[in-house]
Amino acid sequence: MLIESYNLQVDVADHSTEEFEYEAIAHLPVDISHVLPYLNATLTNGTYYTDGPVFSWRRDNFKIAFWHDRIAVEHIETREQARDIIDELVKLVNETWEKRTEIEPDTKTYENLQPLELYRLLPKTNCKACGESTCFSFALKSAAGLVELGQCLPLYAEDQYEEQRTQLELLLVTKRPLL
Ligand code: SF4
Repeated sequence: MLIESYNLQVDVADHSTEEFEYEAIAHLPVDISHVLPYLNATLTNGTYYTDGPVFSWRRDNFKIAFWHDRIAVEHIETREQARDIIDELVKLVNETWEKRTEIEPDTKTYENLQPLELYRLLPKTNCKACGESTCFSFALKSAAGLVELGQCLPLYAEDQYEEQRTQLELLLVTKRPLL
């Protein structure tokens, strides 16, 4: 097992003026920087930065950062929750490292999909064929990975949208969904 123990630090978040919340840091006895490209390859909603290096990840409401020597989590409601979420993340790192021979590590930094960027390339007719009431609503869901581009029927049925369709398809394979 890579991480066999850690020292847990739990603090009240400085920025929480209206809502009381905690930040937790698990200080690790081992360097996990070599695991971060494997996390980047397997987890959605995350961003890998070579400076650090650090893998930043959103899960539910938690803002998480994996550094070489620590795992930090923000937006925690109770001290008990801090222990639980840190235990889960340590387990995730250990399991990912154990499966490393099955994973192609990835050190790329992906940009997130932006709804406006998608909206600009949609037909903008609000025809509702995709099941959404407006193209902007479709763009919002598309940026979050909740709909497929193929659900926009005119985009694929009408030649006039061919260039836009190509650009949209490129965006969807080079960028990652927003939370
Ligand atoms: S099907 Fe396409 S053009 Fe029609 S509302 Fe949905 S996104 Fe807009």
